[in-house]
Amino acid sequence: MKSFLTIKELKNKLDKKEISAQESVKYYSDRLKKYNNNLNVAINIFEENSLKNLDSSDKILSGIPGLLKSNISQKNKRITCASKILDNYKSTYDATVTQKLQNSGATILGTANMDEFAMGSSGEFSAYSTTKNPWDLTRSPGGSSSGSAAAVAAGLVPWALGTETGGSVRQPASFSNLVGLYPTYGTFSRYGVIAFASSTDQVGPLTKTVYDNALISSILMGPDPLDSTTLQRPAQDFTANLTGKLPQNLKIGIIKDAIESSNINSQVKEHFEKAIKHLEKLGAKIEYIDLPDLKYGISLYFIISRAEAASNLARFDGSLYGMRNQAAKELKEMYTNTRHDGFGQEVKQRILMGNYVLSSSHKNTYYNKALKIRSILREEFINAFKSVDLLISPTASMLPFKLGQECNDPLKMYLADYFTVPNCITGNPALSIPCGFSKENLPIGFQFIGPRLSEDLIYQVAYAFEQSTDYHTKNPTDFE
Ligand code: GLN
Repeated sequence: MKSFLTIKELKNKLDKKEISAQESVKYYSDRLKKYNNNLNVAINIFEENSLKNLDSSDKILSGIPGLLKSNISQKNKRITCASKILDNYKSTYDATVTQKLQNSGATILGTANMDEFAMGSSGEFSAYSTTKNPWDLTRSPGGSSSGSAAAVAAGLVPWALGTETGGSVRQPASFSNLVGLYPTYGTFSRYGVIAFASSTDQVGPLTKTVYDNALISSILMGPDPLDSTTLQRPAQDFTANLTGKLPQNLKIGIIKDAIESSNINSQVKEHFEKAIKHLEKLGAKIEYIDLPDLKYGISLYFIISRAEAASNLARFDGSLYGMRNQAAKELKEMYTNTRHDGFGQEVKQRILMGNYVLSSSHKNTYYNKALKIRSILREEFINAFKSVDLLISPTASMLPFKLGQECNDPLKMYLADYFTVPNCITGNPALSIPCGFSKENLPIGFQFIGPRLSEDLIYQVAYAFEQSTDYHTKNPTDFE
């Protein structure tokens, strides 16, 4: 079978009976096993089960297997969040998104590698192994959904789910020549998704094309009585309006910082500017939009995500889930030792920061203030969307970086999230798509950010861009 098929192409082959669902799943399962040793995309691969339980009925994703990030629950499967503290934890239930995918016929081939508890931007904070970027094995595929992105980029699965709290789907999408979505907060259920920062955590699909992404999103969306933060938003088929044309009189706003900031890699800037010209050629009207408080995004994210992480991760203490320190003589010692041994450096640091900003003497200075500025930022986005339909910016300000290089410079890593964090704070949807390659042949992406509930428009516009360019047709070599 030809490698690097999109979901749409594979579906076509399955529909025409050129290949059976069994053959297709076996093909991807073999491929995943073959390349995983080298790329470290999966923490667990569960071939036997998936083949045995293969749904033979003809559903939308029958024979189109995928991979789920290791913080998304799958019943009776080891779900580690790439943390030692959950090394031996098996989930007793399926996440709602897992169930939705399975009900659509999907076979899930394993659990994808990630930064521990989704905290990181490079995949290097996994307690297991470091995922490599299929475009250059010495570089990071981005993170925290590192394994999900690298697996799709290398054609080991046609789709994967990541999760995003501040860029963890879009940044790896941009580093791997993929399409990645952060949906309007509440569009997909978080039931069964192990929490990092609940007020911004969302699941997001990673795919090779806009059509494929829209298809997976249409399957995932919908209210869930088991997650009270889901929106009462009727199901929608996001593939229905993908005409390849921009809507009439479309107005796109360029986030001013995206042009003016000196922190953006020059090649990223160059390809972003090319993308702007291309959108103009397609008929979009371009405006510059100043979001004066965007610059506080990183600080807000820093405070809010750590505060919520400190609270969410308090449950991992050895009493209910995962590892337990056996040497402790009394309960408190058991908690302390378990957390000391089980959490990695980055996670511990974030828990400490979170407790600090929530402490009674600092809460007003940090956490409460951050919540106030969050409301201001939300207003700023609402106002911006009074004059333009969508906003654009580069997804990541840097190129895929060398492994072992940047993760020791926390400030640089946090600043790298400059453009992906603000809309997560405000709950606005955003989609990253490919827009070029650097001189070293490294993928570069840019993103559309929309008003709440605007996924349909975002997909339409992104599809028109994609179909009139050829970046999405390029694949890394050596994975034939
Ligand atoms: N890179 C960001 C962080 O380390 C975002 C992570 C995420 O979206 N899960 O917090």
